[in-house]
Amino acid sequence: MKKSANVLVLPGDGIGQEVMSQGLRVLIKASEIFEIDLSIEEDLIHGQAWSEYGTFCRDETVAKAKDSDGVLVGAVGGINGETLPHSSNPEENDGLMRLRKELDVFAGLRPAVVSSSLLDEIPYRSEVSDGVDIMVLREMCGGVMFAEPRGIESISSTEKRGYDTTSYSTFEIERLARVGFLLARRRNKRIVSVDKANVMESGVLWREVVQTVGDEFPDIELDHVYADNCSYQLAINPKQFDVIISDNLFGDIISDQAGALAGSLGMLPSASLPFLPAIGETCTRGIYEPVHGSAPDIYGKNIANPIGMILSISLFIEYGLGGTEEAEIIRNATEKTLAKGIRTKDIGGQASSESITDAIIDEISYAST
Ligand code: NAD
Repeated sequence: MKKSANVLVLPGDGIGQEVMSQGLRVLIKASEIFEIDLSIEEDLIHGQAWSEYGTFCRDETVAKAKDSDGVLVGAVGGINGETLPHSSNPEENDGLMRLRKELDVFAGLRPAVVSSSLLDEIPYRSEVSDGVDIMVLREMCGGVMFAEPRGIESISSTEKRGYDTTSYSTFEIERLARVGFLLARRRNKRIVSVDKANVMESGVLWREVVQTVGDEFPDIELDHVYADNCSYQLAINPKQFDVIISDNLFGDIISDQAGALAGSLGMLPSASLPFLPAIGETCTRGIYEPVHGSAPDIYGKNIANPIGMILSISLFIEYGLGGTEEAEIIRNATEKTLAKGIRTKDIGGQASSESITDAIIDEISYAST
């Protein structure tokens, strides 16, 4: 594992700041135990950056991110009723979207694992959810969230028209599919590709390109599923899934749906990578963030679940620093904490963000003695 780490920390908005302060406590403890020489630089993004600098993401922030071993993000999203400007260019409109595009972190790894300790909290029968372990691989830098043309135009004195474009090139689909097949090879060798090839031209190309890449991986079982059916299958039989690959929009929705399986959106981590490193190798410039947003409904109450953030830090240690076993120690510490019944409100407990983190840190320390 790499023994020095240059980390850019962007807590962001709302509970992003709360989960980040807990996540950093875990990162600092992990760096002491695993003997990582840690250099942390903190900056503002999105709403916070707008209030301070009048832009959602400064050029300096992008430069620091490009220089880092990894970027940790809490969450973004306008709060406090502040009216933020709107542009039809997504990179001007959202600091995180700009960062993802600038770093070209197209491969969004979003693992959703059901903790056996939370079966009583999950809105599924335990025989349906017990043992679920899914890797959603979402395309992060293209599709409807970035493609042109897009905008809102007047079509008469009383009518407007809002429009977006879904567009994917062979290159964009191919590079994502390749990461998906490599991930499947490290897991249970099954991959489901999600599209709407029945009604969308971009879906027809998506299916064709994924199939072509799949022909290079005869050891991996590939299925193509329409996005609506994927959503249904996730609800009725989630254990059938191993790796799911999807475009930016379907992946956004499917990964939140997977959050219900994990017991709460607050449980889900992510790593957005510019490539998939070999096991034990490193990947600079990845973005590691919980799947959830700024959650204005619970901001300031010290009840935000920090586990999505803490597990994102374990992904940074795994993919950013090549620390496979060290990452596993953090994941196991989280699991042991849940097994002891220590839970935040969203997963049926009373623990504060801080006290559940205390317990996870204790478990990490204990595992390393
Ligand atoms: P959200 O993810 O913020 O919240 C959805 C629900 O999940 C809320 O009920 C919230 O209380 C709960 N929740 C989320 N994280 C939690 C946690 N850690 N612990 C406990 N409960 C948690 O989604 P939203 O309400 O649709 O969006 C709020 C803002 O966040 C919007 O501005 C949106 O654009 C933004 N957003 C940002 C990201 C991101 O930063 N990657 C992702 C999604 C939404």
